[in-house]
Amino acid sequence: MILRVILALLIAVHSSCQEHGAFKVFRVLPTTNQQLLQMIRLFETADTDRADFWHAPSVVNGTVDIMVAPEHTDQFRQYLEKHGYTFQVAIDDLHKLLIEKEGNLSTHSNDDAFFLKRLHDDVGFHSRLRMGEYYSYSVLSTWLERIAENMPDIAKLIKVGTTIEGRDILGLKFGKDTPDKKIVVIDAGIHAREWAAIHTASYFINLIVNGREEDPQIQNYLDNIVLYIIPVLNPDGYEYTRTDKTNPRARMWRKSRSPKACAFDGVRNSCCMGVDLNRNFDFRFSEIGASRYPCSEIYHGPSAFSEPESKAYSQFLTSLKGRLEAYITLHSYSQLWIYSYSHRKFTYAPDIEETRRVAAKAVQELGRMYGTKYRHGTGPEIIYAFSGGSTDWAKETLKIKYSYTIELRPGYEEWNGFVLDKNQLIPTAKETWAGVTVVLDEVTNQWKSSRVRESELSRLRQEKCSDRLPGCAYWLQSSPNICRFSQSTMVRDCAKTCNLCHMIAV
Ligand SMILES: [Zn+2]
Repeated sequence: MILRVILALLIAVHSSCQEHGAFKVFRVLPTTNQQLLQMIRLFETADTDRADFWHAPSVVNGTVDIMVAPEHTDQFRQYLEKHGYTFQVAIDDLHKLLIEKEGNLSTHSNDDAFFLKRLHDDVGFHSRLRMGEYYSYSVLSTWLERIAENMPDIAKLIKVGTTIEGRDILGLKFGKDTPDKKIVVIDAGIHAREWAAIHTASYFINLIVNGREEDPQIQNYLDNIVLYIIPVLNPDGYEYTRTDKTNPRARMWRKSRSPKACAFDGVRNSCCMGVDLNRNFDFRFSEIGASRYPCSEIYHGPSAFSEPESKAYSQFLTSLKGRLEAYITLHSYSQLWIYSYSHRKFTYAPDIEETRRVAAKAVQELGRMYGTKYRHGTGPEIIYAFSGGSTDWAKETLKIKYSYTIELRPGYEEWNGFVLDKNQLIPTAKETWAGVTVVLDEVTNQWKSSRVRESELSRLRQEKCSDRLPGCAYWLQSSPNICRFSQSTMVRDCAKTCNLCHMIAV
């Protein structure tokens, strides 16, 4: 009888594993250099389907979080024990945790359908998206389209490009565009599973669209800068994470959905879908913290900009060159404010002092709201070295003054990683906005003061503008091109007659 009960229990446990998969998250602590190198090797070669790194190895005595598929947990535990690792099981059943933290998301597809219908049918447009929830890409896209249709004075719909599965990568452009204004671009969702980042970018849009009348700071941005927000850079990946929201294999997908590629990893020929788009940019491509194995979650793709998403985005950002003053990309998690360069320690752009100053101020401002602690630095200084990322490419190629990757909540030491409590979504977005406004304020204020400086200079030039010699009019009459051909002399002697007041030194 007892044996039968145990057998029944085993079968029940087994079938529940089969049904949901008891995915576990291991927290491993490499305590020696050798263990660290072994973990890095595993990180770069592991098949995502078996071991998916939530937190990559970076330093000795720094924790590494790894999600392991049910059929490999025993083997993985043995591997850790055999090599003398200190470790613990941080999440015993990820499926259970997903239901607990993110709710029974199956009902949300109905919400999506209702919301889509409302967006289409409402006579009076409701621009407010209920925050603290996750939405399908189709709801988010329709929302962006409807904002642009109904509020053409503040927002324009932009299409950055098309994904491999044919989705439009959409965003909004805020503020009246004039050629002298500076531009700021904010994106999120280049990594599919980072839902809190997508929610945060959507929150920003909601705030601008609905809060501008009460908030003079937002109105100030709309008047003085051009702001682009692209909430989901990798919509194929995002939609894939929503296909079975309580199945960790789908929900924790990071890459794009490009077709299968294969590589021999020394043991077998493995073929997998998807490219890590944030390793596919043309900055030190494939040098470090990226993998050449298609089954790795950090697979960099066959060549730089091989993917339609990253290629289109790089072209979009390049088209703004010269005016693009700040570029911010939202990720999760670890509570970090990262700047360039991240491929090697102590490698900076010449304006590092300014970059660091604004990052420090942003982190301080962010923390003021709820006390959330962020660290700032380059990748290898505060997390790990990596190459092929969007912000490093933007910094180097487009010479953007403020180029930041922000890793949102939770903190590095938290165990729940990508499965953020839904009640943390709005606070996360609010505090991030507080940090981002530091960058927006810098760009806005610098532009405003340069305008004030310009108008002051122009006033001074007008004041000083005169002809030093009496024969200017006669010279110009006898030699109509003299102002152009002898410009420097004429600025000095006949500035007024030659209309060269704007060139006078003041
Ligand atoms: Zn990310």
